[in-house]
Amino acid sequence: MGRLDGRTALVTGGSRGIGAATVLRLAGEGADVAINYASSQDAAESVAEQVRAMGRKAAIYQADVADAGACAAMCEAALGELGRIDLLVNNAGIGSAAINRPTIAEATDDQWNLLLGANLFGPINLCRLLVPQMREAERSDVIVISSVAAQNLAPGFGVYSVSKAAVEAMAHTLAREEKRHGMRVNIIAPGLVDTDMGRKIVSAMGGGDIRSRDASAPFGFVCTPEDIAATVAHLCADDGRYITNQRITISGD
Ligand code: NAP
Repeated sequence: MGRLDGRTALVTGGSRGIGAATVLRLAGEGADVAINYASSQDAAESVAEQVRAMGRKAAIYQADVADAGACAAMCEAALGELGRIDLLVNNAGIGSAAINRPTIAEATDDQWNLLLGANLFGPINLCRLLVPQMREAERSDVIVISSVAAQNLAPGFGVYSVSKAAVEAMAHTLAREEKRHGMRVNIIAPGLVDTDMGRKIVSAMGGGDIRSRDASAPFGFVCTPEDIAATVAHLCADDGRYITNQRITISGD
């Protein structure tokens, strides 16, 4: 018996990093999983194969989460193939390093649109498409992967911080609106995590290899994607049935 037997999840950005670890953890706990990706088809397929090897169903769906039409096509296909979705993990995101950390005064429309598109409108698109059918489940969950940046508000991270603060406001509101339908909505705010994005943050700040941060990190190691995935599973399992509208920081601080 797995803690998530009978559940069906959609994980955005499930091809790499935190999303891939989350897909594998949810499947390991018994869930079938729809795996979204932007361009890494081979990586997404490899994650799906690992899910199938656990005896769970998996399918991969290419869609830019910022594109409402692509999200609609993905959700229609996933619902057709997997039957229903009662667990949505809004994980896909683009970091500050992708736009070279402009100040608020210097950030361009394109830079704002790129990060707000993926980090804010992506979750909005998926919630609009999936929440109505998720209400039919006795238990459903929405997890938003935010960042400590939503509160740290460091110079150069403004576009990213705004996108994460805004998506947190969306999640808190959604939690209140959907509680009467049995939906739990929670936010996870990681600090530095050892993924491609985490490595780019460290390298852009002149820090070299991310593992060189282990010695100065809390508990002697940089957070892993599996540390985040474990909390996603806990929140969505029966163990987390009384937890909603919370923001859980996973930074070791
Ligand atoms: P990552 O290693 O860069 O992986 C990003 C994932 O998101 C990939 O699967 C990528 O798909 C997908 N993706 C990116 N843009 C997308 C789009 N427009 N549409 C669909 N999929 C898209 O990132 P990560 O570190 O795992 O980050 C996951 C989440 O955690 C993000 O929301 C990020 O902001 C947050 N976070 C990360 C850290 C950190 O230190 N790593 C810290 C705090 C918060 P492809 O593989 O197809 O490109």
